[in-house]
Amino acid sequence: MLRFLPRKSMNIVNRCIRDAVSQAYRNVAFYRNTYDRAGIRPADIRGIDDLPSLPTVSRIDLMAGGPSSYLAHGSRPETLSVKQTTGTTGTPVTVYMSFCEQAFRKIVFLDAYSRHAGVKFPLSVVDVGPERKSLDDAILVRVGPHKRVRLFRDIPMNEQIHLICKTKAFMIVGRPSILWEVALAMKDRGIRPPRPRIIISNVEMLFGHVRALLTEVFGCPVADYYSCEEVGNLAWQCPVHPDRMHPNLANAWIEIVDRSGRPVGYGQSGRIVITNLYNRTMPFIRYCTGDRGIDLGEGVCDCGFHGPVMRLTEGRDVNFIVLPDGSEINPRNLYDAVNFAFPHDRPDWNLIDSIRAFQIIQETLDRIVVKVVPGPQYSEVFWPKVRKHLAALHPDLKLNIELVSDLTPPPGRKFHQVLGKLDNRWIRERGESADQFERRTRSESI
Ligand SMILES: [Zn+2]
Repeated sequence: MLRFLPRKSMNIVNRCIRDAVSQAYRNVAFYRNTYDRAGIRPADIRGIDDLPSLPTVSRIDLMAGGPSSYLAHGSRPETLSVKQTTGTTGTPVTVYMSFCEQAFRKIVFLDAYSRHAGVKFPLSVVDVGPERKSLDDAILVRVGPHKRVRLFRDIPMNEQIHLICKTKAFMIVGRPSILWEVALAMKDRGIRPPRPRIIISNVEMLFGHVRALLTEVFGCPVADYYSCEEVGNLAWQCPVHPDRMHPNLANAWIEIVDRSGRPVGYGQSGRIVITNLYNRTMPFIRYCTGDRGIDLGEGVCDCGFHGPVMRLTEGRDVNFIVLPDGSEINPRNLYDAVNFAFPHDRPDWNLIDSIRAFQIIQETLDRIVVKVVPGPQYSEVFWPKVRKHLAALHPDLKLNIELVSDLTPPPGRKFHQVLGKLDNRWIRERGESADQFERRTRSESI
């Protein structure tokens, strides 16, 4: 099997953690201030066993001070790659990476994919549903022997299906909700696409009805990967035991902790916090992802992997949106209608200063509510543009803005960035009603 990165021993992981913490303290104001306030000496952090003495970091803590607080001293944001995300808590996060960090992140993904499919070159990949950016919108991207076909969400479905059939990809990657839409459209049209070697499901939780449909339509295995925009790949599904995941030690160290940041015992469910082992421009150290998992201990697995084992129990979870004409759209399209109204490319502007957190809710067939926790520079200036974007989805959609002081869900409820409250095919095939969907994932008290 072709591997792109050497196996990382625990000694190397410990060294990476020492380096990450000491460099973050030396170069990043946010970490220096946080550790000084907590009376922590970075030299005392020698590896994974010492991590629990560092405070956990939430999105809002990290973002509130702006780039001068969370970027390494001397970074020039205009020269860095930028990604926007909201993760599973509704707080906007701007992620900066240098060119090298971005390249390494891609290699880490390829290395993780090779666990399932023995990646070979030339390699053709179809990426289903990435975000289209104004300066980076080519459908076909070639880097040496790597060909990537990007099926942006605004490409008409027939064209997407045509591209999938034409490409005969080795691998198809994407969010499960978007892969499901494409697979369903193929099934409804009676199209049997070329069989890829593997489908990689990323970013959102992979549910059984999606795995079953993808296997039926594409006739290939489906592997579940746990990833986030902030760091990249965090874990991959064990090739032998599909209900387990192995953390990606090339990239991050994962801890599963209780409310106070202490590790839970083996077999216990808790919050997932991550430490990025390589990114120096914008370090993430004991960063709360908003997801939950179970620590299953460590050892030599039947798949040959030697190291930690976990299970992801809560991550990004979506419901589809029903338009007034009855058609159903992916929640990402509704998210884009709101998010693309924000001037992300203005260098003097940060979403977090205007909006601390937001949630998009479909209350009824024609009513979209955006709940907003306003930031210090909040203004109403975005909403006319959001209304225009909604009208493009359907002219009868109406928008209500509600300013709220907090979007933390009540105990036992899970936060959904886009919450669709109407019944639709996605949740019916999942075997739930809309109300059951909203209540389904009851967080435990930890
Ligand atoms: Zn395994």
